[in-house]
Amino acid sequence: MIRFDVHKVFRQSGVDFKFEMKEEIAVGSITGLSGPSGSGKTTLLRFIAGLEKFDGELMCNEVVWSKNKVNVVDPSARKIGFVFQDHALFPHMSVIRNVEFATKQPDSAYIADLFARLELDDVRDSMPHQLSGGQKQRVALVRALAPKPELLLLDEPFASVEQRMRSRIVDVIRHHHDENGSTVLIASHHDHQLKDLCSRILFINNGRVKAARNYSSLSPDHDHGVVEEIHLEENTALVKVKKGEDRLELRLPVSMLEGVQKGDKLKLDFLKDQN
Ligand code: ADP
Ligand code: MG
Repeated sequence: MIRFDVHKVFRQSGVDFKFEMKEEIAVGSITGLSGPSGSGKTTLLRFIAGLEKFDGELMCNEVVWSKNKVNVVDPSARKIGFVFQDHALFPHMSVIRNVEFATKQPDSAYIADLFARLELDDVRDSMPHQLSGGQKQRVALVRALAPKPELLLLDEPFASVEQRMRSRIVDVIRHHHDENGSTVLIASHHDHQLKDLCSRILFINNGRVKAARNYSSLSPDHDHGVVEEIHLEENTALVKVKKGEDRLELRLPVSMLEGVQKGDKLKLDFLKDQN
């Protein structure tokens, strides 16, 4: 678990912004951070990466990473890949140098595969200023993935790219997660992409988590049903789901349905385990 109980007041132009969050994020999960601009998504990612000091405590697997404005574990030792909102490529290095510079022992085959999936082969030797916003974003993603980080922090990874490429990025993130069992946090206001990828979404507003929604475990094949009815029982719920032309009745633990409402999509990959 990544556990944090953090708070900080930012003063900007005489106005206070109060950030206060206490949450747990399962290691190995893909979690979304959804919320309007200025709600605190980037700030949370920066806290977790150790790039910004705060009061309170942040732990990963029972190891204290930061406590009361002190980074107990150095950011460089956290095995984090970070895709920054502004991409932050090194301007004086080519695309491939940007990627390899971030990695002690670059896995050339893995990097080549990422370049191909994200259609970056043609810009391998280009300089950052020659790239479009979308290309910069994809290079930043490859640079973050190349060292196979245990924790991947993505800040608005879908912002500068069009729909077709968004689906590619979703596939690349899911593939990285499935291959490496990494923990992924994605700040985005593209809720559609978040729902496709995440097992849980934290809805953030004004420096706080206002709501959290869980989805059933990740499905590699997008196998969805639409919730038609939910009947709560003691610890389980009877859920009627429409999947294509079929109607299914499922008895599920209530914990799996936290935040799920009628009309929501439910990922149904767990059904395979029951067959
Ligand atoms: P989001 O990523 O959701 O758009 P941010 O986390 O970037 O939101 O910002 C949330 C708020 O946090 C900002 O409006 C700002 O007031 C405050 N903030 C974050 N970092 C700083 C900082 N270093 N200095 C001053 N204010 C900051
Ligand atoms: Mg932001």
